[in-house]
Amino acid sequence: MSTGFTEPAKSNPSGFFAEAKKHLGQNFLHEKGVIDKIVQAIDPKPGDAIVEIGPGQGALTFPLLRRHGEVTAIEFDRDLHAPLQAAAREHGTLRLIEGDVLGVDFSKLAAALGVEKIRLAGNLPYNLSSPILFHALDHAAAIRDMHFMLQKEVVERMAAGPGSKVYGRLSVMLQAYCTVTPLFVVPPGAFRPAPKVDSAVVRLVPKPLERIEVQDRAVFANVVRAAFGQRRKTLRNALNGVADGASIEAAGLRPDARAEQVEVAGFAKLANLLAPG
Ligand code: SAM
Repeated sequence: MSTGFTEPAKSNPSGFFAEAKKHLGQNFLHEKGVIDKIVQAIDPKPGDAIVEIGPGQGALTFPLLRRHGEVTAIEFDRDLHAPLQAAAREHGTLRLIEGDVLGVDFSKLAAALGVEKIRLAGNLPYNLSSPILFHALDHAAAIRDMHFMLQKEVVERMAAGPGSKVYGRLSVMLQAYCTVTPLFVVPPGAFRPAPKVDSAVVRLVPKPLERIEVQDRAVFANVVRAAFGQRRKTLRNALNGVADGASIEAAGLRPDARAEQVEVAGFAKLANLLAPG
């Protein structure tokens, strides 16, 4: 009989609090071997401020708490907040930020946690992977490293180099600011419910400022977006209105080349030439 009140979420026999919500990209990890490998890859050290995106039902959070004692986690799903907090208590100190990760200013969070840089981790909601990656890039100076589970195909795009079919805007934007290292592939069966595709864990380490070649981030982003917006076109055509043939040549690039042949440094050079001042 319904009481008219919302029942608090309970653990079910599978150890999960509630049914997964597809629209929130909920695919909960349950494979211990995979979870252990992620924690080992992160390898938390005393004093590290570990920030997890999308703790869900704690698959990664609890092992991280047992290993490190303290974790800050950002979870959007309100139904998970109370059960997650309650279940976390026996493992360590969980600071739960209840809301959308895209609204969290990582630079302010680092300051609030009393560190120069946070360490981000998470099995990301796949429908939001790109926005989360770009959001993290905006705060890269406040991030020491990131360990993310993503669709394998996305990790391949992130790490691809020129000449690869999957080299594109995501590869160039991330590699301009971070070292991208794919770590290992995770099969669908490691999650409940199982996604349709393979996943992979990737490590991103933001480059120190002196190693970033881009002078003006907005101009760079604009050049890269235009160049790959029409990837079959030559640079001269794709960049029409953004850069003329002379600037493309001045950057050491061939106007008849296509974006997928241009190295990250080439885009940086061109954007630097176009940047004001
Ligand atoms: N870490 C858990 C695990 O490995 O089992 C859950 C991973 S699940 C793929 C993604 C998690 O991100 C879910 O808990 C989901 O509710 C949460 N999420 C979805 N959108 C979010 C957002 N905008 N901000 C914060 N968390 C979000």
